[in-house]
Amino acid sequence: MQTISDLQKWQALRATIPVTTTIGFVPTMGCLHAGHASLMQQAVEQNDVSVLSIFVNPTQFDNPKDLQHYPQTLDADLALAEELGIDYVLTSTEAMLYPDINVTHIVTKHPIASILEGEYRQDHFNGVLTIVMKLLNLVGATQAYFGEKDYQQYVLVKHLATSYFLPTKIISCPIIREASGLACSSRNTRLSVKERKLADKYAQLFHACDENNINTTKQQLKDLGIDVEYLIYFLDRMFIAVNIGQIRLIDNFKLHETI
Ligand code: AMP
Repeated sequence: MQTISDLQKWQALRATIPVTTTIGFVPTMGCLHAGHASLMQQAVEQNDVSVLSIFVNPTQFDNPKDLQHYPQTLDADLALAEELGIDYVLTSTEAMLYPDINVTHIVTKHPIASILEGEYRQDHFNGVLTIVMKLLNLVGATQAYFGEKDYQQYVLVKHLATSYFLPTKIISCPIIREASGLACSSRNTRLSVKERKLADKYAQLFHACDENNINTTKQQLKDLGIDVEYLIYFLDRMFIAVNIGQIRLIDNFKLHETI
């Protein structure tokens, strides 16, 4: 496995990979867990060469504290990537990825970008799509892997790839969960023991929720002291965002499995 931060070095190396070689790409913000691992496994299994990127993208954070406290565990991340058989890890810095200081960026007016996460996190998806566009161009992957954990993100990235005629196929991957049903998230590592117990209860209540008992579930969560930003039925999925203490967690699941 090679870890590369210098983008010129990466681009020179990328140019040596033959066009017939398939490349699988997994973009992440690091603090890797089982959810990221499942994406990496698919990228390794389904392609000749696999690329992981680790970059905490500032332009998708509207809350400076959330950005400042975003967990970073680079050594452990590299060890996991190596164990899973990743070939290249890109660890470029903000200065390298935003040489223009973000004056040129993607702005999405897609209807799905203005609700749920888009409503509660100002400019979030513009930041996401801008960094994804940069990374997809840099990596030139055959397939790129995105988790359904960030379902709106997946839909918007797929739309981005179609809109800009990108050659990369966007693949969606199922949500990986802890035994309690809590979706694996880098932010889970910031929960205290007490908050983690609450988070497990939140996951259980969320999974028992459907379009008919939204208000009851909201009240049950509030009674536990959990702040519910939204709990919505949309596209035959339940979507939720909550704050447990200072930690913001999101989740979603498909309600009615089609046969
Ligand atoms: P992040 O590091 O949070 O930006 O996530 C990087 C990628 O991993 C995104 O495509 C996420 O949707 C995906 N991901 C994060 N958590 C999970 C999970 N629990 N299960 C599946 N994919 C996930």
